[in-house]
Amino acid sequence: MTLDLEKLQAARVWVTRGQPYLAIALHSLQLRAAPGLGTFAVDRAFRLYADPAVVDAWSVPEVGAVLVHEVWHLLRDHAARAERIGVTDRPRAWNTACDAEINDDLIEAGLPLPGRPVTPALLRLPDGLLAEEYLAAVPERDARLVDCGSGVDGIARGWDEGAHVPGLTPVQADLVRAATAREVADAARIGTVPGGWQRWAQRALRPKVDWRQVLAGSVRSGLGWASGNVDYTRARPSRRAASVPGAVLPSLRRPVPSVAVVIDTSASVDDALLGQALAEVDGALQAGGVRRDAVTVLSCDTRTGPAQRVRSAAQVVLEGGGGTDLRVGLAAAGALRPRPQLVVVLTDGHTPWPDRPPSGCRVVVALLEPGAPAPPVWAVVVRAYDEGVRTTRATPTAVTAMPSTDSGASRSSKSSSASTAVAGGTR
Ligand SMILES: [Zn+2]
Repeated sequence: MTLDLEKLQAARVWVTRGQPYLAIALHSLQLRAAPGLGTFAVDRAFRLYADPAVVDAWSVPEVGAVLVHEVWHLLRDHAARAERIGVTDRPRAWNTACDAEINDDLIEAGLPLPGRPVTPALLRLPDGLLAEEYLAAVPERDARLVDCGSGVDGIARGWDEGAHVPGLTPVQADLVRAATAREVADAARIGTVPGGWQRWAQRALRPKVDWRQVLAGSVRSGLGWASGNVDYTRARPSRRAASVPGAVLPSLRRPVPSVAVVIDTSASVDDALLGQALAEVDGALQAGGVRRDAVTVLSCDTRTGPAQRVRSAAQVVLEGGGGTDLRVGLAAAGALRPRPQLVVVLTDGHTPWPDRPPSGCRVVVALLEPGAPAPPVWAVVVRAYDEGVRTTRATPTAVTAMPSTDSGASRSSKSSSASTAVAGGTR
């Protein structure tokens, strides 16, 4: 039996009449006959294996719906996600979870899947979750005997064509994903697109920028700004002054600006994130030539009253239980002498802010929690957390950060360090 390519083509046309934004993805599928397969399956190179007998048995809309189902395995890159979380020992459960992730949107789009498709309701879970979330609800023994191919889990199947047969390269596959995401996002602006497809497109179109690089870059550019605003008359005189009699030349060597780091030590701050953010700030300051003893670290919450000046961030303790008032911390930073030109604030953002920055200071705020109220516009704000990663509320523990000698921030328990921490004068 040969594959009814005309029917498959008619099915693609049928789908794109209702969902034209899926045309690029559907036409990227490379159709292959797989007699005896009993269904459709895909591989990562956008090859679609179809059992000719099944194509004959299903209606054109049903074939179209299954084509859409299969192409979403590829658009959502289930194989790469399978590798990321390591599900090779339970491929059937993963396939079932992925089908649940896909099928709620197909039902919303009115696409008639044949048979009894896996849905979130079947797993007793709400629509709109990701396969990783559905997976926990699928014991392997209860997983459906569905097999949508190596495009779902990355494990080669007997029917897969090898690399010698042209399919899409990984780069081409990414281009199809990007083009489809743009089409979906455009379509969502003017019409009805299932919610899960919209959320996927938003995620796919969001530039993936590592907050660590952004934070380090903001601190470096803050240093550059600050060193350009240092009073040159206090710098060492230029050696060229001697050769230009009568002229007072500013020093060409830019002095290193003074820096303050204000750390929100209220209980709500995620201390693991705080440690990471501090390590980035520390690295950027060092790369900018700022010696550690030129950095003043202030810890700030409301309970301790005035901000505490500590000799290094290693001495900062998360007291726990307190709220935050960064107006206190920023006022303390502004009162330091010499006055800092750069102030870096690490906070979860749940704090009142002063109306203006300390005079003559550039302020960089590393925001450690999604959903926090936005800091004022006079601050450079870096969202210092990973998208999609839920941060947990910190338990009151000490952070050992701004490491004095070793490579990164580490934590120690409050009980072991609380008695020695928060040393130094109280301002
Ligand atoms: Zn599937």
